Amino acid sequence: MSYELNQKIRELKPYAPLEGEYAVRLDANESYLSLSPEKLGAVFSKAMQEPLNRYPDPRAEKLCRAFAGYYGVRPEHCTAGNGSDELIALITSAFFVPGDELITLEQDFSMYRFYGEVSGVTTSIFPKRPDLTVNLDGLIEYASRTGARGLIFSNPCNPTSICLEKKQVIKLVQALPNCLVVVDEAYMDFADESVLSEIERYDNLMVLKTCSKAIGLAGIRLGFAVAGELLTRALQSVKSPYNVNSLTQVIGREVLSDRAFLEECTEELIRARDQLYSRILSLYARYQLIDEVYQTASNFVYFRTRYAKPIFEALKTRSIAIRYMGDYLRICAGSKDEMERLFEALEEIFQELSGMKG
Ligand SMILES: *Cc1c(COP(=O)(O)O)cnc(C)c1O
Repeated sequence: MSYELNQKIRELKPYAPLEGEYAVRLDANESYLSLSPEKLGAVFSKAMQEPLNRYPDPRAEKLCRAFAGYYGVRPEHCTAGNGSDELIALITSAFFVPGDELITLEQDFSMYRFYGEVSGVTTSIFPKRPDLTVNLDGLIEYASRTGARGLIFSNPCNPTSICLEKKQVIKLVQALPNCLVVVDEAYMDFADESVLSEIERYDNLMVLKTCSKAIGLAGIRLGFAVAGELLTRALQSVKSPYNVNSLTQVIGREVLSDRAFLEECTEELIRARDQLYSRILSLYARYQLIDEVYQTASNFVYFRTRYAKPIFEALKTRSIAIRYMGDYLRICAGSKDEMERLFEALEEIFQELSGMKG
């Protein structure tokens, strides 16, 4: 006799982001801006005052106040998590019971389905149109017909970078009153269609935010769920009490309290994103290698090309990491230097590939 894993985890493999060392990393949608040494010094001098022999504040009250202040919501509607990843896992495991159906979209962030399946909830996939937009009426019809208990998607979407309008999201929330609608706004700092201001009006709406993208703190693992009283109380009752460590709470609090700094960073990231987008468009126009470049409402650009694999591999050999997804590539905005290296490499690679095409 030997121990056997259950069927839902038997085939799973540990999450492996791109392995190896790269000089330029544009594959994980992180911010390329890091805190200045002065700012880092100020943050750490606050951290020095933390009694590390004590457990952190389970409610992360000061942190939630800083987050709420920056995003214009009420602190009592916010729950902090160890990255929004933790919150996604918590939602899929606590808000559904076996037999419930959770709808995810395709293409979208793969972790929703992953955590759903590990939690034992039935996940179903509602496909997007070939142009990667969402058939909203079709989705409402599908969710109503199946009696789905949950719907989760990212807006703007990772990986497509396309953004639904606020009124479209609200239409979903209104049309599916018995379905928990979780809107992951990880990239909404780069767009302007947030439904954060609506959470008090709908008790089936939850919004997820992360400090890993525009806020530039992927390393400290910090995310938030924002929802009305009913959902927030449930989420806070099921979370592990000390899920956000004291150092993360202090660092998050200090950075989220600095509005001028965050707005400046966000503006710079948007400028870098716009430049990345127009330079990809220029490759699209000059070579016949890219089939489609999608509008971007995030800090990355997504495009379709039959040459995705060779482009990805050729960049890898030049120590540049981007995200390869079948017939698509996703590239995140980087610093001026990183963008110079990227486009120098891409020009070379595109010329080579064009030559091979004859
Ligand atoms: C990056 C990302 C997150 C952030 O996850 P964290 O665990 O907070 O780092 C969440 N959702 C989407 C769609 C993302 O792309």
